Amino acid sequence: MDNQFWLSNVLLENGFVYKDNEIVSTQKTVEHLLIKDGKVVAIKKGELESGDIPVIDAKQSLALPSFTEKHIHLDKGHFGGPWKASTPFRGVFDRIKEEVEFLPEFLTHTTERAKSLLQLITDNGVTSARVHCNVDPVIGLGNMERVRNALDEYKDKLNYELVAFPQHGLLRSNSASLMKDAMRNGMKVVGGLDPATIDNNIEASLEKMMDIAVEFNADVDIHLHDGGSLGLYTIKRLTQMVEEANWKGRVNISHAYCMGESSIEEVSELAEYMVEQQISVATTVPIDVPSPPIPLLHEKGVKVHIVNDNINDHWSPFGSGDLLQRASRMAEKFGWIDEYSLTRALGFITEGKMPLDNKGDRQWPKVGDDANIVFLDATCSAEAIARIPNRKAVMYKGNITSGEL
Ligand SMILES: [Zn+2]
Repeated sequence: MDNQFWLSNVLLENGFVYKDNEIVSTQKTVEHLLIKDGKVVAIKKGELESGDIPVIDAKQSLALPSFTEKHIHLDKGHFGGPWKASTPFRGVFDRIKEEVEFLPEFLTHTTERAKSLLQLITDNGVTSARVHCNVDPVIGLGNMERVRNALDEYKDKLNYELVAFPQHGLLRSNSASLMKDAMRNGMKVVGGLDPATIDNNIEASLEKMMDIAVEFNADVDIHLHDGGSLGLYTIKRLTQMVEEANWKGRVNISHAYCMGESSIEEVSELAEYMVEQQISVATTVPIDVPSPPIPLLHEKGVKVHIVNDNINDHWSPFGSGDLLQRASRMAEKFGWIDEYSLTRALGFITEGKMPLDNKGDRQWPKVGDDANIVFLDATCSAEAIARIPNRKAVMYKGNITSGEL
């Protein structure tokens, strides 16, 4: 693609329409974006006189900021291979036992299946992904190498960071030295898993995870399925350790089911402490187990990411790989049915980027933004969240990487 081109006739959101002090719809305009070296360098309304600059006609497709996947597994999946349902769920330990049996045999398919998943999520609008990758005594760093090979083949479609994930338990499977090897080999984020029910020692497990993070100056992302007050206590202890280590803004808690199983008062109090330490939450918006109260956390100021996690693997047969669908599920589950609320749901899959701010002033796209854009058959972001339309095209760094305009 040319270094510089006009993206003409792009449908952009421009403000809210009010009736009796309520937002009833979204104002739009058709505009033209000048893209240069992967960035938006000018935005123009009215007739376009392009001169010698090439033009790509967006044909009034709606433009939205591309999506960020903050938690996905690309290893150990069935997607991209023959269909396979999961076995009935008996417990996390049984799942881990299953893995011990099949992981070595899976290695031959890992790269190819990771690529199938990358194709799926990038076609759906993802241009940035945080990828959790098993680091365990069965395959060591075998998955890491294969997943990284797949990601490198997709580097023109998305950027990524790898999380070293001790799926078999950091302490339980004695994986600390393997985790350190993974960090030395370029993994960027230290993972963790259920300090109480898997590692059987909340204090020691959290301490070890934080020690590795500090040693490698890395962020932290822990899978926390531990429920009720056990889970809440774990989050509280982790938050205290984050404060002590001065690790503010560098920790994410994935799943946090416990927050969906506790009182509003308890969750609110903990949320305020998490905000102080800028600890974020990633959730799939589960409907089979209690979901963290996303609207409450959001209102308190906790950054919440809606994520895919696993897509058709041995843990779950489900998952479309479409973050827009997940955001739609959140809106439906929590009754976000009005125009304004629906527009806000988009921010949970874009790290907060939305065309309009809370007052309705345009904040995206702006001159200087990366040209990372999803083009859809919709008239506004609220419609996109509710109807989950097809993605016509995806642009990453100024190149169309999926679909066509
Ligand atoms: Zn996960």
